[in-house]
Amino acid sequence: MTVILRTKNFQGHELKCKCGCGLLNYDNFFLMKLEVFRDLPGSRLEVTSGCRCIKHNKTVGGKPSSLHIAEGKTAMAADVAPLDVNPQKIFIFAVKAGFFNEVIWYRKMNFIHLGIDRNQKEVYYDII
Ligand SMILES: [Zn+2]
Ligand SMILES: [Zn+2]
Repeated sequence: MTVILRTKNFQGHELKCKCGCGLLNYDNFFLMKLEVFRDLPGSRLEVTSGCRCIKHNKTVGGKPSSLHIAEGKTAMAADVAPLDVNPQKIFIFAVKAGFFNEVIWYRKMNFIHLGIDRNQKEVYYDII
């Protein structure tokens, strides 16, 4: 499978595992949706957490089944922080857009988790 290292909106370094291991293994379908989503609200989104190796996922307190994990599978999630828009707007927009079936707004930490879980039939929207 081809991994998009650089798309119109996302640079490889934004999406790599933040522990420094350099892991970058995204699902292309997810990445495409993320890119289209970033284009829609006319806002700048910063990826605060992209791919994660298993070790880093543990360090940041991610679930063992986290969609961010890109070891042995492709990552299907990204945490984004709006740079110049109200995070509430981005959350509502992500829910409305229907691109992702996992949208979680971590209010105190000021980021929004966007994910696609192919095994999940119901949508999961939450504000934590
Ligand atoms: Zn790592
Ligand atoms: Zn996340």
